[in-house]
Amino acid sequence: MVSAAPSPFPSLEKALKHFFGYDQFRLHQRAVIEAVLAQKDVLVVMPTGGGKSLCYQLPALLRMGVTIVISPLIALMQDQVDALVNNGIAATYLNSSLDGMAARSRQADLLAGHTKLLYLSPERLLSEGFQPFLEALRQQVGIAGFAIDEAHCVSEWGHDFRPEYRQLYRIRATFPSLPVLALTATATERVRHDIVQQLQLQDSNCLVASFNRPNLYYEVRSKARRSYGDLLNQVQTLLGSGIIYCLSRKRVDEIAMRLQQDGVAALPYHAGLPDQTRLDHQHRFIRDDVRVMVATIAFGMGINKPDVRFVIHYDLPRTLEGYYQESGRSGRDGEPAHCTVYFSYADVSTINYLIEQKPDPQEQNIARQQLRQVIDYAESTVCRRQIQLAYFGEALTAGCDRCDNCCHPRPQEDWTLEAQKFLSCVARCRERFGMGHIIDVLRGSRKKRIRDLRHEQLSTYGIGQDRSAEEWKLLGRSLLHQGLVEETTDGFPVLKLNAGSWQVLRKQLTVQVAIPDSLKADNAAAVPSVDQSTLLGQLKSLRKGLADSQGIPPYMVFTETSLRQMLQKLPRTRQAFSQISGVGNRKLEQYGQAFIDLIDAFCTERGLSPQGGSSASTATADNTHDLTLDLYRQGHSPVDIAQIRNLKSSTIYRHLAELLDAGTDIDIDPILSIAEQQQIWDAIRQVNSGRLSEIHTQLQGAYSYDQIRLVRSHYRRSED
Ligand code: ADP
Ligand code: ZN
Repeated sequence: MVSAAPSPFPSLEKALKHFFGYDQFRLHQRAVIEAVLAQKDVLVVMPTGGGKSLCYQLPALLRMGVTIVISPLIALMQDQVDALVNNGIAATYLNSSLDGMAARSRQADLLAGHTKLLYLSPERLLSEGFQPFLEALRQQVGIAGFAIDEAHCVSEWGHDFRPEYRQLYRIRATFPSLPVLALTATATERVRHDIVQQLQLQDSNCLVASFNRPNLYYEVRSKARRSYGDLLNQVQTLLGSGIIYCLSRKRVDEIAMRLQQDGVAALPYHAGLPDQTRLDHQHRFIRDDVRVMVATIAFGMGINKPDVRFVIHYDLPRTLEGYYQESGRSGRDGEPAHCTVYFSYADVSTINYLIEQKPDPQEQNIARQQLRQVIDYAESTVCRRQIQLAYFGEALTAGCDRCDNCCHPRPQEDWTLEAQKFLSCVARCRERFGMGHIIDVLRGSRKKRIRDLRHEQLSTYGIGQDRSAEEWKLLGRSLLHQGLVEETTDGFPVLKLNAGSWQVLRKQLTVQVAIPDSLKADNAAAVPSVDQSTLLGQLKSLRKGLADSQGIPPYMVFTETSLRQMLQKLPRTRQAFSQISGVGNRKLEQYGQAFIDLIDAFCTERGLSPQGGSSASTATADNTHDLTLDLYRQGHSPVDIAQIRNLKSSTIYRHLAELLDAGTDIDIDPILSIAEQQQIWDAIRQVNSGRLSEIHTQLQGAYSYDQIRLVRSHYRRSED
């Protein structure tokens, strides 16, 4: 019988700090750990980066016996075990990559009770030949329970069904009294249900975390002809490692090459490369030897790199679920990360073409619906996060503040007149043509087809020459989107009028169109001050050196979160250093002194004093403004400052406005472009009262109150 070991830790938090260096549990971790320690079956559904591993790792250390972890990929196992060993935790794996001798020595260690966590593939766990060893392990040391990682692999409804996972129910017969913890990042109800059934979880607790990833910034950019320049600009402005996804191998090779020519350390990754090359490229990415991976979506699954700072879809993703998972490979460490989709209608045509190649009409239909959802996401003017969560059946309860639509609401223009022209042209063409033809008629095209159809004689011929074809397309898309016109979906898309169209034509409804952002390069990750970036550079190279000498990836030495805290707190004693998040006992012993020495030398050289006491939470009312100002002047955006300080971004905006009111000189150009400021200034002038609500109305809601208040304070200051 296995029971909890007499624990030397007065609380779970103490154990957490000791082994992993963290001060607090994330949402649901504690509840899961308590249930596991109480020998219950649990299903944990948490998004990538939610901290699933800790849910079985910490209990494993507190229980007698060995915890067996089932994992589908060898690379993933090795990675996890390396990270644990580096935290001083006795973990090991047995799989086909080991020779007989290595395997026997690991088994001996296990039987001697030296190991707490054993990672296995499902095949190994269930194989005949392995059973005698398991039995010996149970008798001599005890088996505490099972953790089944990537549990969605049991379900055909998940995105990676693995038949071997199906067999896992058999452990229930062999080990009826042992608890099973199943973990997955796949959200759908259907898959969850399958997991509980297949694994025969006993009156299990199902803990489902929110799928919101608040540290990810989402944006969609339109992909025009010069978009490579925009991509390059983004890659150069964003800091840290990133992945760029493209649809085809050819495209991957092309973009990787262009980036290399432009001085970016980038490598390609796709199924057309030899295995060895792929492995090598992946390795170099994880070890931070190369910063950017250009890849097809084959890349990333099962790669545990927590500090990916950006994921760019240079071609349109095919499904929204896929997009959520792929973009979710960034920011697993909880630090801010940036996710961009480049969107063009040309991509839609390409994907539509691919869909048409599918033999099964049912499959085609599903794929079309999925594509429609992606287009809706890309075209939408509402919060991107809200759309993604709605897809998983979750409502966004907290605010967002981290997507382009929330941070830069696009100005709306009244295009009622244009809409009337467009729709009456659809009517004149007898609702038998697609958008391209309607636009040709509106713009008075001289194409032969128009003459053949005698459409140059229609009253709407040429009445739309004042707008470009692009603008008409924008309007057409927007009408479709707002449900003010319809498009047939069988084969060739033809525009059809509906009740809404007639309301517009009868002037009963006005039409607003969101004007897309020109390609902007703001909102990139913040650039820290000179001192900070120098120190960060030094910390990173120390980390890289230590990692290389042990043959492990840099993030296993310390995560980005830990490095950032070192920058903020400048710890120069062991005591101060041990307070940094991610510094457990083992890491303090192993690396502490090297980092302390570096920080100490840096501070002495520049006459800096340690700032351990001035963390955000202890800031007083007076210096809370100063802290905001400091961070802002270091180049952080209000949204980033809010994140860093754990405050609302409207609070940060208020700080800046109040500082301006108090006469402080603040440059607001990084927040709003000159054109945007101009627009708000004009509205302020037109509204005599200066009241926010009136200015807001004057601007037709195109800017947030935060933005308006900030510009108003700036305006007043420059009027002084
Ligand atoms: P998942 O398996 O759910 O994708 P991981 O278990 O890999 O996520 O955890 C993601 C990151 O979060 C890791 O770097 C991990 O060390 C860190 N982490 C986990 N729990 C905590 C915690 N309580 N406090 C701080 N960081 C944590
Ligand atoms: Zn949003």
